[in-house]
Amino acid sequence: GYCEATRTFRSLRPPVPLPPKDAPLSFPAFAFSLLPSPPPAHPALLDAATGEAVSFPAFRSQVRALAGALRSRLGLQRGDVAFVLAPARLDVPVLYFALLSFGAVASPANPALTAAEVAHLVALSGASVAFAVSSTAAKVPAGLPTVLLDSDQFRSFLRSEGRGEGLAPETVAVRQSETAAIQYSSGTTGRVKAAALSHRNFIAMAAGSHALAPKPRHGCDRMLLGAPMFHSLGFYFALKAVVLGQTTVLVTDAVARRGVKGVVEAAERWAVTEMTAAPPVVMAMAKEPCVLEALERVVCGGAPLPTTAAERFRLRFPNVDLCMGYGSTEAGGISLMIGREECSRIGSAGRVSENVEVKIVDHVTGKPLSVGQKGELLVRGPAVMTGYVGDDEANASTFDSEGWLKTGDLCYIDQDGFLFVVDRLKELIKYKGYQVPPAELELVLQTLPAVVDAAVMPYPHEEAGQIPIALVVRLPGSKITEAEVMDHVAKRVAPYKKIRKVLFVDSIPKSPAGKILRRQLTNYVQYSAVSR
Ligand code: AMP
Repeated sequence: GYCEATRTFRSLRPPVPLPPKDAPLSFPAFAFSLLPSPPPAHPALLDAATGEAVSFPAFRSQVRALAGALRSRLGLQRGDVAFVLAPARLDVPVLYFALLSFGAVASPANPALTAAEVAHLVALSGASVAFAVSSTAAKVPAGLPTVLLDSDQFRSFLRSEGRGEGLAPETVAVRQSETAAIQYSSGTTGRVKAAALSHRNFIAMAAGSHALAPKPRHGCDRMLLGAPMFHSLGFYFALKAVVLGQTTVLVTDAVARRGVKGVVEAAERWAVTEMTAAPPVVMAMAKEPCVLEALERVVCGGAPLPTTAAERFRLRFPNVDLCMGYGSTEAGGISLMIGREECSRIGSAGRVSENVEVKIVDHVTGKPLSVGQKGELLVRGPAVMTGYVGDDEANASTFDSEGWLKTGDLCYIDQDGFLFVVDRLKELIKYKGYQVPPAELELVLQTLPAVVDAAVMPYPHEEAGQIPIALVVRLPGSKITEAEVMDHVAKRVAPYKKIRKVLFVDSIPKSPAGKILRRQLTNYVQYSAVSR
């Protein structure tokens, strides 16, 4: 509810009790303590392409075996950061749990990144070891010890418990305040940073999911994980499914390659009851001829979903709850729709999540605002990150003096407690839910001798949500073409970050201090000029 005195909104959901803050407890130890005993008979993990499955007892045993092997054979220690560059695989959640269970830190990144982008992230997080697969290993910086998940050595690690090498999470005292994961996000500025999430952050989110999870209508709960496991949402969902005793159906490469069609067919084949999906997938699902009889709930977030698309989806799947959620790498889950009634609030991003407090402030004056007023959303709660690694400046500008995290999103909350994300104040561009930090692309553009100045901005796009476009000032006399500029960038960044349109302009609006005036950039763009 809203408190006028403090101008804060507290979650309307019942508070969920958390373990005492100072008790040593790793996320895996907490997760396994919630798992019913005896463990569920259905699989913990299932490969949507091959049908290969890992049972709950096997999952626990693999986690213990791998944790033991990582410590005793690879010499990994608590606090060590392990960079993970892998597609969705059955052993990835096992790896996450194993690392976390003795206090090592999992730091996953998008396998589509280029070697230069990977090197930058590794430097940011200070990773001392990498876990990759044969097809991604070449992108890992030389000199960083690398373990291949598709190697005999790694497979033998997963089985080593039988040789008495297991390490049970319950036997290691990890403080909840210790870092569990480092995830890469540009937050409210234009450059990527390393966000540290603690065991406490994940315990808080999982405790909430556990307490408030809707009971499946038909017994067994199968969740198709459409979100990638390196991204904050997919990472958390991979951890949480185990806590809830759900079967996680993984969208492995063989499925993902076939696009939305592959995802929908997998949902049908495995009779999933729940799916997580980014907006473009939800939009495409509404157009696919398919019968998803078992499907009860689609959790959608990461970027806004146009209301027309939500309406089309509801017509197409009247029995499915389309639950919008809103959150970020830095804040965890901020709001979510739970249940039929909340899901009928099309356009909203749901109600504020359990144990979470938010404030809406005027983004110029910082003055707190009230019900129905639009401003920047600030968030405080047990799932908010501990901070960016080694970046005091970013931390100082991201948190205010009372510990509120600035989201950089323009939002309001209505009288019924529903949150609406209206616009993005920060520089971030989201292409199909993926983060595209403009400042990174601007640096790449500036390496072109023919480019005097450049700015990258989002442009609305029906399918992708937004596409990155560039405004470029050419050197006088230069004849460099749009295609040449786009090609230069495409060779140096991951495919999803590509510039998809270039407009040549005379100057880029800047403040006296030389900062790009991003809000003014839109004036430059003839909206009709951009059509892709
Ligand atoms: P990430 O850290 O990659 O999860 O990106 C977080 C950002 O994605 C948020 O700060 C929002 O700008 C955007 N976002 C996430 N969920 C939603 C949503 N449901 N509606 C609108 N924007 C969203």
